[in-house]
Amino acid sequence: SAYVFHFGGGARNDNPRAKDKTITGGKGSNLAEMAGIGLPVPPGFTISTEVCAQYNTAGKVFDADIKAGVAAGLVHIETATGRVFGDAANPLLVSVRSGARVSMPGMMDTVLNLGLNDVTVEGLSEGSGDARFAWDSYRRFIQMYSDVVLGVDHHRFEDALEIAKEDNGYFADVEMTADNWRKLVGEYKAIVAEELGRPFPQDVHEQLWGAIGAVFDSWESERAKVYRKLNDIPADWGTAVNVQAMVFGNMGDTSATGVAFTRDPATGEKAYYGEWLVNAQGEDVVAGIRTPQYLTKFARERAGAKPLSMEEAMPEAYAELASVFELLEKHYKDMQDIEFTVEKNKLWMLQTRSGKRTAKAALKMAVDMVGEGLIDEATAIARIDPMALDQLLHPTLDPKAPRDVLTKGLPASPGAASGVVVFDADTAERRAEMGEAVILVRVETSPEDIHGMHAAKGILTARGGMTSHAAVVARGMGRPCVSGASALSIDMAKRTAKIGNRDVVEGDIITLDGSNGDIMWGEVPMVEPELVGDFATLMAWADKHRRMKVRTNAETPLDCQVARQFGAEGIGLCRTEHMFFDAGRISAVRQMILAEDEAGRRAALAKLLPEQRADFIAIFDVMAGLPVTIRLLDPPLHEFLPHGDAEFEELAEATGLGVDHLKRRAGELHEFNPMLGHRGCRLGITFPEIYEMQARAIFEAAVEVATKSGEAVVPEVMVPLVATKKELQILRALIDRVAAQVFAEKGKTLHYLVGTMIELPRAALMAGEIAEEGKFFSFGTNDLTQTTLGVSRDDAARFLNPYVDQGIYPRDPFVSLDIEGVGQLVELAAERGRKTRPDIKLGICGEHGGDPASIAFCEKVGLDYVSASPYRVPIARLAAAQAAL
Ligand code: PEP
Ligand code: MG
Repeated sequence: SAYVFHFGGGARNDNPRAKDKTITGGKGSNLAEMAGIGLPVPPGFTISTEVCAQYNTAGKVFDADIKAGVAAGLVHIETATGRVFGDAANPLLVSVRSGARVSMPGMMDTVLNLGLNDVTVEGLSEGSGDARFAWDSYRRFIQMYSDVVLGVDHHRFEDALEIAKEDNGYFADVEMTADNWRKLVGEYKAIVAEELGRPFPQDVHEQLWGAIGAVFDSWESERAKVYRKLNDIPADWGTAVNVQAMVFGNMGDTSATGVAFTRDPATGEKAYYGEWLVNAQGEDVVAGIRTPQYLTKFARERAGAKPLSMEEAMPEAYAELASVFELLEKHYKDMQDIEFTVEKNKLWMLQTRSGKRTAKAALKMAVDMVGEGLIDEATAIARIDPMALDQLLHPTLDPKAPRDVLTKGLPASPGAASGVVVFDADTAERRAEMGEAVILVRVETSPEDIHGMHAAKGILTARGGMTSHAAVVARGMGRPCVSGASALSIDMAKRTAKIGNRDVVEGDIITLDGSNGDIMWGEVPMVEPELVGDFATLMAWADKHRRMKVRTNAETPLDCQVARQFGAEGIGLCRTEHMFFDAGRISAVRQMILAEDEAGRRAALAKLLPEQRADFIAIFDVMAGLPVTIRLLDPPLHEFLPHGDAEFEELAEATGLGVDHLKRRAGELHEFNPMLGHRGCRLGITFPEIYEMQARAIFEAAVEVATKSGEAVVPEVMVPLVATKKELQILRALIDRVAAQVFAEKGKTLHYLVGTMIELPRAALMAGEIAEEGKFFSFGTNDLTQTTLGVSRDDAARFLNPYVDQGIYPRDPFVSLDIEGVGQLVELAAERGRKTRPDIKLGICGEHGGDPASIAFCEKVGLDYVSASPYRVPIARLAAAQAAL
């Protein structure tokens, strides 16, 4: 079959599709690649991702071609191992594992030890000379297969094991004897028969097809879907299935299994980092059931841990492993995340992939690897996920703040978080939606918790090591995580916990320090991060490689300052209405809009002028000569209307007008659809005195700051929601007139620009004409999306999610630009605008200006700058560089 690829055991790998991740998935292609460079990989075969789609759409059946391919694959493994699948004397056991194009840790299913039944278990026992091992493997298989393929709750098996240990007075699994395991296998089979009304399948081929189907099914599991959505993974990619000869880490004290990273995935430090367990199978490490041991002596000593590291306990296998790490890093030129097994002192590689990492580690590794000559600057830039920078831009715990430490766990994912304790993922999601910061506290971390982990600010678990699935996922998501806190016990029924000696109830506030494992009572103060070191180095490289400028959307001096620290090169959008909502001014604003006539409005505007001028002076000061785009008043007047009797009474007092009068006037101004109502430049056209006041405030402030500082101040006055050239023509004349007046009064002339937002489809279409009046365009893609899609931006949340779920829009079009549709208007307007005015300045200031995919589009269209909210500025700088590479 063209859909089944062999690897290991001397398989020839000349089919390029075998190493193509889109075909054989991440795991399968890397297994083929590792085998190809001579590393010890147990033989196996990969069923391609294409089969997944086929299987899931064609009624969950396999055609004859796939069946033949799997049969041939089995022959390959049998030949390479000298064992036979289902053979009574010399049985072959296999693992069946998922492997999508990108890794989705723990989201899909795996079955190990497949091929065991009541007959082959005896063969395994005799062949290995180890009955305990054989029966241990069989009970593992029944539990895993029943859970994954047959849908029997794994707790039933775990409970039975606990009882067996208790009955025998054992503490740990390793105390179980061959006979104990054999007896437990009997109980396990009884559980299955009772749950399903039929016996556990003894036919090894039935087992294999069941497992293959289950892995393909798991692509459609809820948790996989959630993970895909969070990570923008298309549903049609599908997963591959890898069937591979088992090697055994549970064959006694010369066997082991582990997970390792070639560099520290939390800090980026160039030191091997990992965990292992002697006499165990891989799932024991990653599932977080046994807390594993350190891989290296260095890490063990640093943590002050007792159980020997692999480096100390198995020096030879460790040395071989270390040389494999070096080889893999050189080969892939990236940090690798590896699964390995040692079977009777022989090392086997089960997986390698680019390791997930925190943003901090990603930066350090990228910068270090450039230093080591492993990669170049462009590769380093391309390797950082711009959105992940967000993790570094937020506050960290104040080192000087006192800490009431309840207990310590493992520092599984760095960063700090404070929030209310919740004990399950649904509650985490619900309370986060209500705006609370939550810490998700669980006994162990399970992939089903993914939506809660995403909603939470931090994650705390009682069990599980640093490579448990949830720790890996938390790092990938940038959520601080403390795992393996053994002094944490949870009473789910009472919804309380004991953390150290403290009784905690759901809703109490705790703080986690994911960088050292501290779990603290209450909220610990935070400090702003310092953007130095690797961050600064990488950003400097990004700045060197990008073409577009990055500005910010900001309207307070504080926001402007933050944005400048983050590298903003100007203001792309200063929304003046936010200044009007200020508590001290809203009454003058209301007085203005409720006035009966121009005289009434002018009286109120006179009160606002000095305030507005002071706003602009403060902003020009902070921006010190950088370009500042100020948008004239835009929102529907409707938004400023008083609500409720108290506000009307307050306003009546301030204005001396009667409450009834004011209510009548407010009634007149009420709008059915304010977003398409009396807003934008329509305000300037109908109430020119408003824009006059604003223009005056801008020019007076600019003259004052320019005079004081001696620096050039270049205001860019922007008119919102223009649809026609005529609107801009009228308003530009008004602005020019005010500018001339102010310059004459002050005896000083400044250079300034008048331009417009392009945020209505008509404006985009008529951009050629509009450019005759405006020196710059700024794409207001929030409104342009709203008006092009005919979707109200204030009401969209309710139905856009289901839209995205059903793939109608690939992503929320208010978050990531609808390039296909709205993008056409942007492209066309840029083209027509440039044709009229070749040096027209083009930018974007909708939310999309901070979204990497939209930024890539802006680069393609050739915009001069993007403007993003302050915390997105570094993201935009990096994304702009990536787009330009
Ligand atoms: C826009 O519409 O994209 C824009 C930036 O303006 P606002 O969000 O203020 O309407
Ligand atoms: Mg707008």
